[in-house]
Amino acid sequence: MRMYDLIYSKKMGRALSSEQIAFWIEGVTAGSIPDEQSAALLMAICWQGMNTEETLDLTLAMRDSGTRIDLSSVPGLKVDKHSTGGVGDKTTLILGPIVAACGRASGLSCAMFSGRGLGHTGGTVDKFAAIPGLRVELSPREFLDSLAGTGFANSAQTPDICPADRKLYALRDTTATVESIPLITASIMSKKLAGGADALVLDVKCGSGAFMKTREDARALARSMVAVGKAHGLRIKALITRMEEPLGWAIGNALEVLESLEILRGLHAEGDLARMSCRLAAEMLLLGGAANNLETAQKVVSASIESGSAWRAIQEFVALNGGDLDVLEHPDRLPHAERSFEVRAPKDGFIQSLDSRELGILAMESGAGRRYLGDTLDLGAGIRIHRAVGDAVRAGDLLFTVFTSRAEGPKPERFQGTVQLGPTAPILAPWLLEEVE
Ligand code: URA
Repeated sequence: MRMYDLIYSKKMGRALSSEQIAFWIEGVTAGSIPDEQSAALLMAICWQGMNTEETLDLTLAMRDSGTRIDLSSVPGLKVDKHSTGGVGDKTTLILGPIVAACGRASGLSCAMFSGRGLGHTGGTVDKFAAIPGLRVELSPREFLDSLAGTGFANSAQTPDICPADRKLYALRDTTATVESIPLITASIMSKKLAGGADALVLDVKCGSGAFMKTREDARALARSMVAVGKAHGLRIKALITRMEEPLGWAIGNALEVLESLEILRGLHAEGDLARMSCRLAAEMLLLGGAANNLETAQKVVSASIESGSAWRAIQEFVALNGGDLDVLEHPDRLPHAERSFEVRAPKDGFIQSLDSRELGILAMESGAGRRYLGDTLDLGAGIRIHRAVGDAVRAGDLLFTVFTSRAEGPKPERFQGTVQLGPTAPILAPWLLEEVE
């Protein structure tokens, strides 16, 4: 078999066979296929697409390029959640303890492997790393201990899970071939299948701050991932959610921990972040068989916050994984940036939009994120958002507080530029756009 023939076939719009896809992915894993040939095939896939069978074959080949996690020593079903990436998305920190607390009675636990942040979106691993002492790179033994002991485990993905995806993702990042539905499907679903959970709730982000900018694309991606999951016996459902403005009031690792702790304490219950986290948790309970219908699941989730059982679950999770428990009670002990400055409204008006992509980039430039893999993070850096879309502001009102240790960080005018003001209140769209199952 020759890579040239695969590239030529795909360029001409023909489907690749299972054998051809296995040949490519085995070669990528072994390092025997030159990057330029993989890059050419990736670009051909971006233009010509892949049918369902090819997408399935690609997912399986990537899953089998490395280790598969065996969670069977922990009794009960395991449920996972994946978000396609948004700014200020800290739902995992909130729903992990909730699912742990609510799943206990039925033996359901929450098993997640997460990523680090890159570019304008943050990563769950970096957010958890803001809790002093908390281990975020767990060995297989530590992962199982956390799952069995607390009902929740979260770890950075180890290099031996889907190594082919790791290599191909780096290549896609430099060849403008990230945005392809079959490639995103195979990349995400291979890792999820290798992670060993029985059920998966997907949060497919849609909007200017997301990979998928339109409803049609988000729907196509959700359907593609759900189809692949079902073909592998996974219990799976996707929610398509809006990603126009940042989620919640915090962007930046320690700030996002603080906001998550507030929600687990029952604050901001009417905000989109709390609603979305609780809904995702309820869907996880439902898929995992810990509730019979959505209404019951939602009640159980709310009760876990009100009764403090979700709070006790995060305490157990932090304690078992070596974190400083005192920080939960005294969040002022979370990492701090060296300085802060305020950004104020330049004129009167109603906030029409907040540019989440640009705010994500500004948070990264303030030290909260990485431009390149391996960059060092300032865990205390980030942005506190004081006003939401739809709010009326007067000239001089506080819009953002920016936390940074960088003397040469972005200037206040760039933050002001992320806020669009208008004379009338905008019509607010709901956070939940669609469900796909
Ligand atoms: N996240 C992934 O893991 N892979 C993609 O291709 C896109 C988002």
